[in-house]
Amino acid sequence: MSENTDSGHPPDLDALPRFAGVATFMRLPLVGDADALDIALSGVPWDGGTTNRPGARHGPREIRNASSLIRRVNPANGIAPFVLCRVADVGDAPVNPVDIMDSLARIQGFFATITAAGAVPLSAGGDHLVTLPILRALAPDRPLGLVHFDAHSDTWDTYFGGYRYTHGTPFRRAIEERLIDPRRTIQIGIRGSLYNEGELDFALQHGIRVVRIEEFYDLGLDAVVAEARRVAGDGPTYVSFDVDGLDPVYAPGTGTPEVGGFTTHEAQRMIRGLAGLDLVGADVVEVSPPFDPSGNTALVGATMMFELLCVLADAVRRRCGG
Ligand code: MN
Ligand code: MN
Repeated sequence: MSENTDSGHPPDLDALPRFAGVATFMRLPLVGDADALDIALSGVPWDGGTTNRPGARHGPREIRNASSLIRRVNPANGIAPFVLCRVADVGDAPVNPVDIMDSLARIQGFFATITAAGAVPLSAGGDHLVTLPILRALAPDRPLGLVHFDAHSDTWDTYFGGYRYTHGTPFRRAIEERLIDPRRTIQIGIRGSLYNEGELDFALQHGIRVVRIEEFYDLGLDAVVAEARRVAGDGPTYVSFDVDGLDPVYAPGTGTPEVGGFTTHEAQRMIRGLAGLDLVGADVVEVSPPFDPSGNTALVGATMMFELLCVLADAVRRRCGG
């Protein structure tokens, strides 16, 4: 990591008010590749894995727009990511809206280019299936730990007569492909009615630490953060944040809302609590603008991206001995 340059900063407020200009993530420069970056922000405008209410393909554009409200310094932990790291918006992953397997290959290729450039990816989905090709690009040689915020375990096997690739299956595929280590995986916020009682059996039998929302509130926030840190351990770890982990009061604009979730503030505190882990990438998925008439879910998604950016920047800095 080298010194930050002007190209890795949002423009000065004196030069351009936050509501002006072309929308990029956090008003960062839009660049053609990740070669000069420590952290590459990108969108994955694709919802071909969605099984119910669609629209997450429109997430990146609305999150970019809402993210113009984000400033430069995290008030809670003091992290200034644009000072610590070179950060920019590298645009959207290529996708094929009518072909799932082609999209998975295109998305994987896009993130392989980011990782080959030595940059850490932070992306906005898209539905949760986009995390699978990102993990394929990030973990070709060793499984990662995973901190997974979600109402759903996303470890189902198949839909509709054997179809294996949907936004309900990415983490089962990721375990089968040895992209994530289930014993270094924690899922937080799990809830919602089930199709049948055995739905979590795969996750539990493979050693995933499942923190249902009832346990989250029984244990308390600090204990859950400590548990996430214990499970992830010292190894390289990815963070995946499905906005439906939040209560739909805070994030109604999503495809599969489930009442009784954690709050935005609790989510911010949990993400901040991951500082110090060896974080190698993160995403925010399932923001669906057609179900988000107020635009608040996009703002929530942008804010969670900023919280993730801060702990990622801290991790990058730490790996560089800074
Ligand atoms: Mn999910
Ligand atoms: Mn979900």
